[in-house]
Amino acid sequence: MTDIRDTVILGSGCAGLTAAIYTGRASLNPLVLEGHEPGGQLSITTLVENFPGWPEGIQGPELIDNMKKQATRFGATFQLAHLNKVELSSHPIKLFTSAGEIHTRTLIVASGASARWLGIPSEQALIGHGVSSCATCDGFFFRGKEIAVVGGGDSAMEEALFLTRFASKVTLLHRRESFRASKIMLERAMAHPNIEFRTNTLVKEVLGVEEKDVRGVLLEDVTTGGESELPISGLFLGIGHIPNAVFFGGQMDLDEDGYIKTTGNVFTTHRGVVIPGVFACGDVQDRRYRQAITAAGSGCMAALEAEKYLEERGH
Ligand code: NAP
Repeated sequence: MTDIRDTVILGSGCAGLTAAIYTGRASLNPLVLEGHEPGGQLSITTLVENFPGWPEGIQGPELIDNMKKQATRFGATFQLAHLNKVELSSHPIKLFTSAGEIHTRTLIVASGASARWLGIPSEQALIGHGVSSCATCDGFFFRGKEIAVVGGGDSAMEEALFLTRFASKVTLLHRRESFRASKIMLERAMAHPNIEFRTNTLVKEVLGVEEKDVRGVLLEDVTTGGESELPISGLFLGIGHIPNAVFFGGQMDLDEDGYIKTTGNVFTTHRGVVIPGVFACGDVQDRRYRQAITAAGSGCMAALEAEKYLEERGH
């Protein structure tokens, strides 16, 4: 017989770890399945300046490490496992993972979102050979080189600014004239002498597939239709994220972009009717705010809902 756990948390980013701290403190002995990107997006970011309580900012990996230690102190355990299949409508809920079968009364889905790619074949062929979606992971390899960043949001600005530590020149390529980035981030990037902006510009192809090494990009100016080549050694994508919810395979309602639909502020999940014992929090269900602090806040709320759900059923 497989033991039945009170709560399992899918994902170990800001939302999942906050849920682990709260359910841990409620003596629910949460098991956190860390997933394929342990620590989530904060673990591959640099300075987080807007998390309350850190007046000088804190490095993303340090913030995550602190949360993990805090959750561990309250009895959370962690497992590096991938979810292969889930049965949300069975009671207990059944999870089939790379580390075996797990049964649980409540499931908190905090599986976050992963980097979006352009999806062109040359880009896909060169991932790890000069194409990257993680400036903090790969920036180091481009010391003294010219590179480009794609995107017009805060992620692209942050990546471009971070990459100036290594690259001799960063060209920011954005498909429109106006930006989604916050004013402060945009102004910082625009003021940097080593960042050049090219707007209304699409990346048509990444050059260097035969050499297995990026040597440039083929660009299209969307206003004139004209094409040009930009010689670079690295291409970084900062074009947003895709929610990690596909593995629920039709068992819960997702919106048109794949985010889990939740009910108001209580973070329960839908499937026509509410799925008992299943709660979602963080970026996998948040298409609007997507901040570390909102992810943490929703992780707290999901944990309190799970606790209430168990209490009402006498556990
Ligand atoms: P985002 O705000 O959704 O911006 C994505 C950018 O990528 C947009 O400019 C978009 O262009 C572009 N894009 C999307 N698909 C594209 C494609 N196929 N080809 C070319 N360009 C494409 O995403 P984000 O920058 O990752 O930010 C997400 C959230 O995290 C935001 O709330 C942001 O404030 C927050 N964030 C905050 C910080 C910080 O404060 N330090 C750092 C990073 C992120 P269009 O504009 O044309 O749609």
